[in-house]
Amino acid sequence: MSPEVTLMVTDPVCLKQIDETKATEKAVYREQTYYFDSARCREVFERSPEEFAANVPILTYGDQGSRFPERKH
Ligand SMILES: [Zn+2]
Repeated sequence: MSPEVTLMVTDPVCLKQIDETKATEKAVYREQTYYFDSARCREVFERSPEEFAANVPILTYGDQGSRFPERKH
C-alpha cells in the first residue's frame, strides 16, 4: 500500500503550481522536463528557455544528485 503522491511542479513562466499528472504542456531543456499550464507559457519558455529555467528547482527523483558531499583531499 503506497500513499498517493501528487507531484506539484512549477510553471517556470508564470510560476503557477500545477499537478504534474495534469500538465499537458511540457518542454525539455537540457534534459530537464518543464511543465506549463498553457501552450502560451510553453511558447514563451521555448523562446528563451535559459531565462526561465532557473525559476524552478531541478527535480531529483529519489533524492539523488545534487547532494553529493564535496570531495576534498
Ligand atoms: Zn503558465
